[in-house]
Amino acid sequence: PTFDTMGLREDLLRGIYAYGFEKPSAIQQRAIKQIIKGRDVIAHPPVVMVTNTLSTLCRSQSGTGKTATFCISVLQCLDIQVRETQALILAPTRELAGQIQKVLLALGDYMNVQCHSCIGGTNVGEDIRKLDYGQHVVAGTPGRVFGESGRRRASAKAPPSLTHMIRRRSLRTRAIKMLVLDEADEMLNKGFKEQIYDVYRYLPPATQVVLISATLPHEILEMTNKFMTDPIRILV
Ligand code: AMP
Repeated sequence: PTFDTMGLREDLLRGIYAYGFEKPSAIQQRAIKQIIKGRDVIAHPPVVMVTNTLSTLCRSQSGTGKTATFCISVLQCLDIQVRETQALILAPTRELAGQIQKVLLALGDYMNVQCHSCIGGTNVGEDIRKLDYGQHVVAGTPGRVFGESGRRRASAKAPPSLTHMIRRRSLRTRAIKMLVLDEADEMLNKGFKEQIYDVYRYLPPATQVVLISATLPHEILEMTNKFMTDPIRILV
């Protein structure tokens, strides 16, 4: 199996090889072709048990290549001539959202793609300026009202949430065709459920949904039932 035979655009293929990838990983082989066909996909990376002195946790095993799976798929579906947000990627932490943006920019190095990570922090004005300029892809945490700990910050200092950016029309959603929910179970653990549903309400009804989750508890299945149409489940 090679990236060459997957029907990817030339400028994206160049980016993939320049990034150092030689052949697709198992999840990439199976998921990318379904996503670029337009199917809703639930990808279910293997789980490892992480035990420390206090507890045992389920963690999705890293190294499967899940990030590049949805980044390649998102880049493939963009119309670069259209300077509007066409894909939205939600992740549980600022660090992860920032990493995703870096991977998008690296793989899309030959595509002239604009990607922004909307993770707040100090400079909200910069977010607004970047979004007004036009971003093909936005990666971010669902709500910026909550800190990493999940505790609510003093509201006066809370940076605007993604939905705030949508409501003030800095983040325009009309051209969005794909929503990626990365580490969906982790986002629920962090209390982002309401914010995810809020964001979803603003997306066009035909939006394609890709969900990555190491575990599939009831709340995730509820979400897949509400957001997804005839999803394919890929167990890596
Ligand atoms: P992830 O599972 O998304 O956290 O990715 C784990 C690591 O695998 C990252 O450092 C990626 O850059 C790398 N990686 C992903 N896909 C490939 C590939 N097809 N070939 C080589 N390395 C890859």
